[in-house]
Amino acid sequence: MQVFPSKRAPIFADIPDEKWSDWRWQLSHRLNSVEDFQQIFTLTESETTALSQPNLFRVEITPYFASLINPDNPLDPIRRQILPTAAEILPFTGEMEDSLSEDAHSPVPGLVHRYPDRVLMLVTTQCASYCRYCTRSRIVGDPTQSFSSKDFEAQLNYLRKTPQVRDVLLSGGDPLTLAPKVLERLLTALREIPHVEIIRIGSRVPVFMPQRVTDDLCELLQRFHPLWLNIHVNHPNEITAELAEACDKLTRAGIPLGNQAVLLAGINDDPVIQRKLVHDLVRIRVRPYYLYQCDLVQGAGHFRTPIGKGIEIIEALRGHTSGFAVPTYVVDAPGGGGKISLTPNYILSYSDNKVVLRNYEGYVTTYIEPTHYEKIDPSLTAAYQKEISDTGQEGVAGLLAGDAMFIKPEGFDQLHQRGGERHRLRDRTEKWIPRGIGDGRQKDAED
Ligand code: SF4
Repeated sequence: MQVFPSKRAPIFADIPDEKWSDWRWQLSHRLNSVEDFQQIFTLTESETTALSQPNLFRVEITPYFASLINPDNPLDPIRRQILPTAAEILPFTGEMEDSLSEDAHSPVPGLVHRYPDRVLMLVTTQCASYCRYCTRSRIVGDPTQSFSSKDFEAQLNYLRKTPQVRDVLLSGGDPLTLAPKVLERLLTALREIPHVEIIRIGSRVPVFMPQRVTDDLCELLQRFHPLWLNIHVNHPNEITAELAEACDKLTRAGIPLGNQAVLLAGINDDPVIQRKLVHDLVRIRVRPYYLYQCDLVQGAGHFRTPIGKGIEIIEALRGHTSGFAVPTYVVDAPGGGGKISLTPNYILSYSDNKVVLRNYEGYVTTYIEPTHYEKIDPSLTAAYQKEISDTGQEGVAGLLAGDAMFIKPEGFDQLHQRGGERHRLRDRTEKWIPRGIGDGRQKDAED
């Protein structure tokens, strides 16, 4: 763990402590130009080229975060995350402006309803600093794309009339850059919706600007429990004494903390770095939650790794360290399919009564299945049956539960009819209906 306070870049050496510790000072003194950066380190040609591009995704770095960069190393993992290089402007196959189709899944601007019982609520386009691989670079950093109070009202109205939503994730941009009054108003309005059980916040503010985690902010947040917060640390060098102090304040306010890291080529794409990262996170009481595969978003091509790298990292963590220190490795499905978790394969084979498994060391074992299995009596689960259905999103769990027998791609039946005439063998559709499972199809939302 780094010592407190963390080192400052020499140009900030004379800044009085009261200013340095004031998040408003940190925000208003962010670095964003060639001239600003040249005061701290020598820019590479690639960085200078990128910084002179028109329409570049916004660049801003808090003095605190910039001070964590080793000025002598152009490969510094913090520098690579927030300073653009020429590689950022190169297009790549498969890139998209909105690679997760978030806007297509938004019934109202800024409210992404992708999963059955939860939503993502974008409340601002501003961040304390800007990550070069940002998934939402299409709107983030652009003040003209900001969400208005009219947008907030539309988002809240959608939530009020959508009772299956029990979990709201505030993101953006970074919700903790909002003016405290605006944040309070939003949280109050959410808490007034009876079916919203959980409020979550995704924020990189504690990492970019731990000074923002004041006692006042913690007092504000803890009035809206149950409230969870995920931070975003990618490399152990970001875990400073200041971040540890901010996390300590948040956890003392009763806020469970998780971490979402992005797997980034040249920054953290190695098991030894990831192991150090998760160990340092749990030491400051932050649970590693997700390791994200980098999205197919414009500007992020040079940060992408093969998926095999993520599997290799999980292979090096699972079993080798505490279970709660191992994040879930996920690919957010391009096109809006949501998160898909990936793990190394631990099932080697199975029969009708044995499963052959391997552990992290390569030890191979056999789990003998019970020959007779009495499952839970339905009377014990009846009270937990969901009152509100998943509206067509039962997926493979629906097949296992027996709510459906197959999931067909769009157009499957039409294709396999191969045109042709109506004929006597096709006339009777009941012959394809499995007994006891409705018509066998997964239910569509509009059914
Ligand atoms: S903090 Fe999050 S929203 Fe902001 S630039 Fe980084 S990844 Fe994007």
